[in-house]
Amino acid sequence: MSIKIGIFGYGNLGRGVEYAVEANPDMELAAVFTRRDPSQVKIRLAGVPVVSAADVAQWKDKIDVMILCGGSATDLPEQTPKLAELFNVVDSFDTHANIPQHFDAVDAAAKKGGKAAIISVGWDPGMFSLARLYGNVILTEGKDYTFWGKGVSQGHSDAIRRIKGVKNAKQYTVPVESALEAVRSGSQPELTTRQKHTRECYVVLEDGADAAQVEKEIKTMPNYFADYDTTVHFISEEELLKNHGGLAHGGFVIRSGATGNNKEHKHVIEFSLKLDSNPEFTTSVLAAYARAVVRLAKHGKKGCMTVLDVPPAYLSPKTGEELRASLV
Ligand code: NAP
Repeated sequence: MSIKIGIFGYGNLGRGVEYAVEANPDMELAAVFTRRDPSQVKIRLAGVPVVSAADVAQWKDKIDVMILCGGSATDLPEQTPKLAELFNVVDSFDTHANIPQHFDAVDAAAKKGGKAAIISVGWDPGMFSLARLYGNVILTEGKDYTFWGKGVSQGHSDAIRRIKGVKNAKQYTVPVESALEAVRSGSQPELTTRQKHTRECYVVLEDGADAAQVEKEIKTMPNYFADYDTTVHFISEEELLKNHGGLAHGGFVIRSGATGNNKEHKHVIEFSLKLDSNPEFTTSVLAAYARAVVRLAKHGKKGCMTVLDVPPAYLSPKTGEELRASLV
């Protein structure tokens, strides 16, 4: 019997889950939930109901796992604990500093409802978290490096759009190639924020806006840009839509360590991603963990987990026997 998936929130990730469900023959999409007027939300798959988020409890016994597709800033801290009491859930919560707090809230709710939950699924956190863990347990003496990009940072693009005189903007985070090479050499360099990434901004101005002032405000913005070498390009709205409409991303997790009597043997573990579509990749990861959470729930697991707690074989539709013959 196929796994009945619910999508909660229909933005970039919500659309991505539709593709992921189609790509996994053991899954079917049961319903899409939205806080907006459902008649105004058009989804791609025919025959799947779009339902008001207010009516979600009525679907308690019709969905095996709810994939939460809300934003990390304000949606998920409220939505995941609420839904974890009613459904098995997975989310992609990515505010790293608040993961322990989010975990506790979801854990309490899921245990209360007798459900299983996996939070912070995606690529970072998610696949990168796994790469960091494997690196650390294997090369116990060493150093961790994470580089992001080249890719679109939604948060930084939003921050530019909030500046007076800016009509639209896209920001790319770019890893510094020489820093990457230094890390790959095994020399374990100490790198500052500025040495690891640069920021490239493509900005459309409102009519009559002061370009020099906007550029200054971007480059001096604390936390977002002040600690980086930032380049600002002013372009037309047409050019932005034509050349900067995508949501590409990616990055590198590198563990550099050494073994031997005098630590003379160097080892470098590198995991990298190059993604044309950040949301479509993220939802491909979410789908695999949705399968895992349903299986874990069937085996009696209750409460919250992260990707670090899930045995890899639970992610695959194949049997243990098939996996041993083909992938081990
Ligand atoms: P998004 O497109 O902004 O969607 C977020 C929510 O906004 C949706 O669930 C939807 O809820 C609402 N929404 C979407 N389009 C709307 C519209 N046109 N008008 C009004 N409301 C709209 O965000 P996203 O790109 O899917 O990303 C969601 C979160 O995923 C991000 O905040 C990020 O933290 C996380 N993420 C994590 C990873 C990772 O690697 N872990 C990777 C990528 C993203 P309703 O349908 O209820 O209105």
